[in-house]
Amino acid sequence: MSISKSHCGGKDNPLMQYVLNHSMREHPSLKNLRMRTMEHKWKGMMVACEQAQLMANLAKLIKSKKVLEIGVYTGYNTLNMALALPDDGTVVACDISEEYPNIGKPYWIEAGVEQKIDLRIQPALKTLDDLLAAGQAGTFDFVFIDADKVNYDNYYEKSLQLLRKGGIIAIDNVLWGGRVLNPSPDDQDTVAIDKLNKKLHRDARISLSMLTVGDGLTLAIKL
Ligand code: SAM
Ligand code: CA
Repeated sequence: MSISKSHCGGKDNPLMQYVLNHSMREHPSLKNLRMRTMEHKWKGMMVACEQAQLMANLAKLIKSKKVLEIGVYTGYNTLNMALALPDDGTVVACDISEEYPNIGKPYWIEAGVEQKIDLRIQPALKTLDDLLAAGQAGTFDFVFIDADKVNYDNYYEKSLQLLRKGGIIAIDNVLWGGRVLNPSPDDQDTVAIDKLNKKLHRDARISLSMLTVGDGLTLAIKL
């Protein structure tokens, strides 16, 4: 499979291109949605395809049925996760924008998995509180945190409550284009990411790995 016009991180790097050409197994509807998203002005927000495939494999590995996605955008990873789940699986997908997920919905339908996607358009913190109030603590298998960075710690704490033991929280953009190396105090996004990175390193409630895939991805496994 040849990945050409992609959001897969390998465009100018022959070795990365080799990795993509020898590992990507992108579902046709995922590819269609990726190509559609590449025409959108905020295309840089879409998750890298090799990272999405890794997360789908991890979700399958731990036999996930309930996934939470915090930050949907056009729903590339939402679709990716829905495709990875069994027929009775659910992705609770959180975004404040109705416009962006509407771009992805036709592709969710095309892939025949739209019934697995529970899209909630409101601030994600409110959705997480709703899920906790509905008694869903300890029931989620996999969470992907990828919305506004200043709320990352709030998303992490609430996700940890919603997650079952052995479940995984994947946190995106933990390297933030390298800015975490020298966070400027008035750059709230970088400060928030760096603070959470430091907190997770000493958090005894999880085991973790920080991967350099994409813009940095931390995997936190609930103990
Ligand atoms: N995970 C997506 C993917 O795989 O392509 C990319 C998500 S994009 C980086 C971040 C999204 O978070 C945007 O669609 C934005 O509308 C949404 N967002 C920002 N603040 C939010 C909030 N407070 N609650 C819910 N969603 C929010
Ligand atoms: Ca991201």
